[in-house]
Amino acid sequence: MKNSKKKQFAVIGLGRFGGSICKELHALGHEVLAIDKEEEKVQEFAPYCTHAVQADSTDEGVLRNSGINNFDHVVVAIGDNIQASILTTLVLKDLGIEKVWAKAQNAYHQKVLDKIGADLVVHPEFDMGIRIAHNMSSERIVDFIDLSDEYSIIELLASDKLHGKSLAELDLRAAYSITVLAYRNEKGMNISPAPEDKIKEGELLVVMGHKKDLARFEEEGM
Ligand code: ATP
Ligand code: ATP
Ligand code: CA
Repeated sequence: MKNSKKKQFAVIGLGRFGGSICKELHALGHEVLAIDKEEEKVQEFAPYCTHAVQADSTDEGVLRNSGINNFDHVVVAIGDNIQASILTTLVLKDLGIEKVWAKAQNAYHQKVLDKIGADLVVHPEFDMGIRIAHNMSSERIVDFIDLSDEYSIIELLASDKLHGKSLAELDLRAAYSITVLAYRNEKGMNISPAPEDKIKEGELLVVMGHKKDLARFEEEGM
């Protein structure tokens, strides 16, 4: 699928994480600059990006000459070498790159990246572990987004207990302090649910609330 809104991205570090980001962005039709210090990696990814450059991203001059300051979204996907990841992130922010996303290897690394101005820090093994645990603990939860430590949005399949009842009848705000943001039935996604809308078993509900309230809602088989 080609993307109609073509954007310019750069990926620094072509390991498993950076490599898959690079390939996917390219497949989505975006312009991708791929950088790695290993020539072998550069060769491997050349077919899956717009420009592949062999460079050490901790060298400020080299990074400047790569033309990276024309990119508004850069991912630093260097894991094992924490020092290189931190230096690269610093240089990119110094160059005035608007969005710098970085991969953290551990909690300490994550803290430092946050402090020096990374716009988003991801910790794939850790984040994926949390996601998988949620999927394991509930067969009905399809997906979730953490809004903060306390609040989340979850997507779950409506149980038989909700079947045939309207949102007004269910009054989930009063019973659980949660809000139904949207639901999906055979007609498609409804993103402005009305009080009289009736829910059917198996429909996808998008619900927002405190994690404790969401857990109670789900545990009580709603
Ligand atoms: P994975 O995503 O596979 O788990 P990782 O997080 O373990 O990778 P590394 O394998 O250490 O990270 O690094 C990813 C890539 O980043 C490697 O291909 C490596 O050559 C590249 N890299 C490391 N340091 C630099 C640097 N200073 N400049 C450019 N590329 C670098
Ligand atoms: P991460 O999720 O941090 O990337 P990893 O995928 O690199 O980890 P390892 O660190 O090699 O995986 O292993 C994960 C854990 O599994 C370690 O704590 C290790 O002690 C344990 N482990 C490895 N082999 C065995 C085994 N045969 N039996 C039980 N535990 C094992
Ligand atoms: Ca790794």
